[in-house]
Amino acid sequence: MIPLSIEKIKQVINGKSYHIDNENWVVEAISTDSRKIPNKSLFIALIGDNFDGHEFAEQAIKNGAIVVIVNHKIEHEIPQIIVSDTHQALGKIAALIRQQSKAKIVALTGSSGKTSVKEMTASILQNCGQILYTQGNFNNDIGVPLTLFRLTPQDEFAVIELGANHIGEIAYTTNIVKPQSALINNISEAHLEGFGSLEGVAIAKSEIFQGLPKDGIAIINLDSCSDKWFSQLANETVWTFSLNNSSADFYASNIHISEQTRFILHSPHGECEIILPLIGLHNVSNAIAASALAISVGANFQQVVHGLSTLKPVKGRLFPIKLNGTQLILDDTYNANVGSMSAAIKVLANQQGYRVLVVGDMAELGYEAEKYHQKIGEIAKQEQIDCVVSVGKLSQTISKFSGVGHHFSNKQDAVSYLINLLRQYPKLTMLVKGSRSAKMEELIEKIQIEQ
Ligand code: ATP
Ligand code: MG
Repeated sequence: MIPLSIEKIKQVINGKSYHIDNENWVVEAISTDSRKIPNKSLFIALIGDNFDGHEFAEQAIKNGAIVVIVNHKIEHEIPQIIVSDTHQALGKIAALIRQQSKAKIVALTGSSGKTSVKEMTASILQNCGQILYTQGNFNNDIGVPLTLFRLTPQDEFAVIELGANHIGEIAYTTNIVKPQSALINNISEAHLEGFGSLEGVAIAKSEIFQGLPKDGIAIINLDSCSDKWFSQLANETVWTFSLNNSSADFYASNIHISEQTRFILHSPHGECEIILPLIGLHNVSNAIAASALAISVGANFQQVVHGLSTLKPVKGRLFPIKLNGTQLILDDTYNANVGSMSAAIKVLANQQGYRVLVVGDMAELGYEAEKYHQKIGEIAKQEQIDCVVSVGKLSQTISKFSGVGHHFSNKQDAVSYLINLLRQYPKLTMLVKGSRSAKMEELIEKIQIEQ
């Protein structure tokens, strides 16, 4: 962390202090978990759905915190700063840390592929200097401040993922992050319960541009964007990317996908060949996005090529599991929405042999959820998938509209059916996907044990 005095922190959060002997003490770490208190820590008591951090304030001090931030006076003689809202205080301290950092910071959002693009951008920028990037999926109004707390004075770059399930969340986080460049990877029907419609998604994602400085760069996917963004950004620098539309600033040609992917990356600075150890056309699009984002803060082609060629597939995201030489499971069970589900079906359609789509429900789609499940069934049919196996409630509609569906009310029955298919088709690819709540990885584990 970038060290801060208690006095400075108190000032920025407009707090009142009690039992603090010396306000010049320097805080060297911030934690919201009283079980994880590094040396010279500040503990912030957050109130969550299932816990109230205030109950752990005393324990945090016992575990070594030098001061706690709370929303009411704790009746013990522990060093404390009182504010009206600890959640807001978290954001204000993160903004202060960001202001003190000399790192070039980029931020990105989108309906799908944020973590993928974040990992790719980080892999490129690692070749340019010391870098901080979002761990896992720490992309909300708590995760983003916690990420910025990890900034050190030595960091030269930072890549920050911003996610949202309600309007205003990205406006809040982008104003803390104040990125030099900001990218929207795509928009699709995700989190509709919070956004209402695709139009709502477009508005929510465009909030990311509110954090840009005057000389910042907005990066937009020409294949998945809203026209309104361009009029909103009339006075800013806008870069565009696309999978293969040559009117974009960054795009690909000569795409070859087998066990890995090769393509030519075109950019305003010239072109170069990229080798990507991942499959899926959507990952080509993600790699183009990451290249544009990294180049916007100074990466060169050599760093882009090297960064992308050294990526590793991540569990749950089209992660290949070979059952034998010619039978393959693509584990895409990390999550699903309409955009990522259709992208996955296209990946499966390009595989050799008998192609089986194994799906669980897509969650959080609101009152039109059934319509979106129908759409996925129709895409599976259009892409001529050989067999669809569904488990869950809503996913029954995917099976129905695919024309080749088999629905099961529990995972065990689906596993027995799939094991039979594995015995029947020596050359087979099975892509498994569903929302996080569907836990479709359990099905893969069972297949691996029972096959
Ligand atoms: P979350 O909202 O959970 O943070 P995310 O936006 O970070 O998700 P990833 O974790 O990178 O996205 O990928 C999630 C799923 O989306 C994966 O199953 C992946 O196959 C799919 N996906 C990745 N990139 C794209 C893309 N550009 N278009 C459509 N689907 C994609
Ligand atoms: Mg993510």
